Amino acid sequence: MRKKIVVGNWKMNLLSAEAATRAAELAKLVGFEDSVEVGICPAFLSLAGVSLVLRESVIGVGSQDVFWKSSGAFTGFVSAEMVRDAGCRYAVIGHSERRGRFGKLEVEESTLPFFGETDETVNLKLKATLAAGLVPIVCVGESLAEREAGQTDAVIAAQIAGALDGVEDLSTLVIAYEPVWAIGTGKVCDSTEANRVCGFIRSQVPEAYRDHVRVQYGGSVNPGNAAELFSQPEIDGGLVGGASLKPEDFIQVINAAK
Ligand code: PEP
Repeated sequence: MRKKIVVGNWKMNLLSAEAATRAAELAKLVGFEDSVEVGICPAFLSLAGVSLVLRESVIGVGSQDVFWKSSGAFTGFVSAEMVRDAGCRYAVIGHSERRGRFGKLEVEESTLPFFGETDETVNLKLKATLAAGLVPIVCVGESLAEREAGQTDAVIAAQIAGALDGVEDLSTLVIAYEPVWAIGTGKVCDSTEANRVCGFIRSQVPEAYRDHVRVQYGGSVNPGNAAELFSQPEIDGGLVGGASLKPEDFIQVINAAK
């Protein structure tokens, strides 16, 4: 039986003091409930502070990205070892917003090449994340144009093959199915289709790890739709953006996974 895992992605929100306050509020609401694994991913600068606040909580902390080199002349980057040192348990890798694939475009289109994550860099980051002893949450998902062209499964299969290339131990791997068109748009994927794609994702994982790997759904999950999504047999929890920012909303999403 796979334990459900619900992780909040706070994206580029909340200054350090507010992040610490919300983490403390969430810890009170979660208590010592351990039937669901819970994590939050604040911005890099809040990782150490939030980790301190949560040191006696069951809630784990995660980074929203890592760089694949452990140290060196890489101005502005943060390594997997560094986020581990800041108290992290998880690292999100390959989020669509880092791949330049936005559900809701809020930057100039001409700047999209800046968001240059590729399947190759996801693969390097996955290896670095595992080497640092972190639990990786690898994000995959199709754009609206890809879905409408009937390419959903092919796009996801290629993303998974690229991410997992040459990675041997997948025992801690979490994969988040995040259709790009559902992220931050309020358009949630139909639960039957989300379940089908999560099952497809599982089928792409090497057989030895297939029953073990946890596949989350992410994309406009909220207190009103979480229970329906999380009751699907192939959906092992959620990666939650907007609805994870308010502890009183996020606890309802977490409780829906029980
Ligand atoms: C996300 O950031 O991974 C996400 C799914 O965002 P939202 O829940 O806001 O759609």
